[in-house]
Amino acid sequence: MIYLNNKLVPEGKALISVFDHGFLYGDGIYETLRAYKGTVFMLDEHMDRLFRSASMIGLMVPQKPGTIKKAVYNTMEANRLDDAVIRITVSRGAGPPGLDPDLCPKPTFVIFASAFKKYPGQYYRKGVKVAIVNTRRNYNKALDPQIKSLNFLNNILAKIEAKKAGAYEAIMLNYRGYIAEGTISNVFFAGNNVLCTPSINTGILDGITRRIILDIAKELKIKTMEGNFRPEEIYNAQEIFISNTTMEVMPVTEIDNKKISPAPGKITKMLNRAYRRKVAGYIKGENKA
Ligand code: PLP
Repeated sequence: MIYLNNKLVPEGKALISVFDHGFLYGDGIYETLRAYKGTVFMLDEHMDRLFRSASMIGLMVPQKPGTIKKAVYNTMEANRLDDAVIRITVSRGAGPPGLDPDLCPKPTFVIFASAFKKYPGQYYRKGVKVAIVNTRRNYNKALDPQIKSLNFLNNILAKIEAKKAGAYEAIMLNYRGYIAEGTISNVFFAGNNVLCTPSINTGILDGITRRIILDIAKELKIKTMEGNFRPEEIYNAQEIFISNTTMEVMPVTEIDNKKISPAPGKITKMLNRAYRRKVAGYIKGENKA
């Protein structure tokens, strides 16, 4: 069952117009969320980011946060899901071709959810390969990566390069040549007991997982540094990992064919465990919407 506009409909009936500006121009925004044992993790934070992205493109989300939260749970329930990945999409809606948002009187609002498919265990036991790609992250004064937009070609081009290089994830640099982020993840690296990650003003998405990891690191008294980092700095790192809502803390074993050993490293393991504890605590303490 899919939540479309304001009701649950069977997948076969969840149809949107070919004139939807989300389809025609990538004009819209989205969020990906994760539910553990029936509780949606960091629902309020995702809701805040959804509304922030929408406001950055002048899009009115057609539902109130409280209604959306209920709809997320209703969608999970209708599909009998406990461990799930949920996506909320809001597009500009259908209208005649043309870029003017005023052509579209009614945004399209969709929630779908599916069972969470575990990543292969070896991604966590051994790590994944990443490659620094030539595709640069969108210049943030052109299309700000803080907008979680439906326009993903920048990331898709980077992903194509990564695949060609035999890597699981791409690491993009920003227009100035500093490390930015992955195609769907934030990036961290550690050396000499300092955990480093590109600062938000390098032009990256303010990842919710990234923020949690930085908080956990502080709780664990791990020194953290957010800033502008050159590729040499990540090449020389003792540990690297990537993060997002579904991957959590995923170790990297190789960058541009340079082995990181041992992977996962000490800090990565500590953060991975602490992240899981954080999730477990959240599930116990959190009331459903
Ligand atoms: N960076 C990009 C470009 C992303 O698309 C994502 C998630 O989809 C992230 C980072 C990680 O964000 P979060 O931790 O909120 O899932």
